[in-house]
Amino acid sequence: MKTPISIALVVFALGLPAASAQSLSPHQQLTRDIYRELVEIRTVHPDGDNTAAARAMARRLLEAGFDAKDVEVLEPHPLKGNVVVRLRGTGELKPLLLLAHLDVVEAKAEDWSDGLDPFKFTERDGFYYGRGVIDDKAMAAIFVANLIKAKREGWQPKRDVIVALTADEETGGHNGVAWLLKNRRELVDAAVALNEGGGGQYRKGKPHVQSVQVSEKMYLSFDFEATHPGGHSSQPGRENAIYDVAAALERLSHFDLPARPNEAMRAMAAQLVEVETGEMAKALAAVAANRATNEDYRVLSRSARYNSQLRTTCVATRIEGGHADNALPQRAKATVNCRILPGDDPDFIGSELQRVAGDRVKVSPRGSARKSEPTDSQSPFMKTIERLSVAMWPGVTVVPVMGTGATDGSRLRNVGIPVYGVSGLFVESGENRLHGRDERISVKAFYEGAEFLDRLVRALGNGE
Ligand SMILES: [Zn+2]
Repeated sequence: MKTPISIALVVFALGLPAASAQSLSPHQQLTRDIYRELVEIRTVHPDGDNTAAARAMARRLLEAGFDAKDVEVLEPHPLKGNVVVRLRGTGELKPLLLLAHLDVVEAKAEDWSDGLDPFKFTERDGFYYGRGVIDDKAMAAIFVANLIKAKREGWQPKRDVIVALTADEETGGHNGVAWLLKNRRELVDAAVALNEGGGGQYRKGKPHVQSVQVSEKMYLSFDFEATHPGGHSSQPGRENAIYDVAAALERLSHFDLPARPNEAMRAMAAQLVEVETGEMAKALAAVAANRATNEDYRVLSRSARYNSQLRTTCVATRIEGGHADNALPQRAKATVNCRILPGDDPDFIGSELQRVAGDRVKVSPRGSARKSEPTDSQSPFMKTIERLSVAMWPGVTVVPVMGTGATDGSRLRNVGIPVYGVSGLFVESGENRLHGRDERISVKAFYEGAEFLDRLVRALGNGE
């Protein structure tokens, strides 16, 4: 345990505030209480209780004076509850939707560092720790606390502000956004939505880049499968189902789908020219100007992050085969997981994979890809995000990005609601604990994000 003096020194050295529960404003304290409550309700699939979290938020909103008809808990399936609340505006403009998911990825206390329990909200050395403190209970808590503040102040926006806290984002089930859109579209219908998927990056503790997610890749896995009559392993021939799949995967490991930077990638590259140096900066400038050569793509592809923005990627993630140690395998199968660019055709990807796999291996898609069109990165909404980001963090670069993972944003985009993945929540560059151990956010970053989202929601709500 550190002495108070060494804590003060660490805090000073990291440039973090000596924030503690005592120095919080009443609104920050409320935000923290809600945040803590959410983190400590275990909402993992399948036995966690999302409905308990939804009900807890509904209770707070009702206590804060929201009309019961404007706060609805919807539970399509036991334990899979959602809550939707509406702050009424003048109705001059179509609503703003604030979306956050309540479910989290599983975490086990024994995997986390000493003294940390993923389902016990912990403040330590200037950080908040717990499962979901970033993904996605920070935004959920902030949206609720800020809406309560707005209600108490009597703010009347030009458009309704809707907060939807949902289930089944992480597990890809259908009891969250998909269910709401199918069954209660009117509850969440909006002109524009804010969601997870973006985020800020500190470089050595200073706000550097604020990413805004404006599109995302499609998720689709393919089976690579080979079969063989089998037989006794004491008399093997040359043909073997495992060898066939292994050979196909070996070819796949050297294969790249074509680089096809889309508008979001070009806009992102234009911003990142300022951030990178040397040949990486040169290659980014070429992409931004739409004159990139294969050499530029080769340079950028050395970075897994940039490579994933440039092209559809497909990678082997699982393998199985054979049925006994002393038998020739009758079957071998690998899973190849693809993240497909919004403009690429999943059928084209499938035919390319089949070509690479060769005719001894059958390639088949597992299900179908959920397509989604990019959100306009030049819209007035985006300009407002840029303006407020720079006002809050002078010198920060705002970068539109394509998410390489999948969020519920694509479901909204598919029904025509533009979605901006923006949080104002910063983490140190290179730190990535989402879905992993010791998930954390700095106390300073959390309250700055809360302040940013408040300003952004007020501006968008007022039609700015
Ligand atoms: Zn998430």
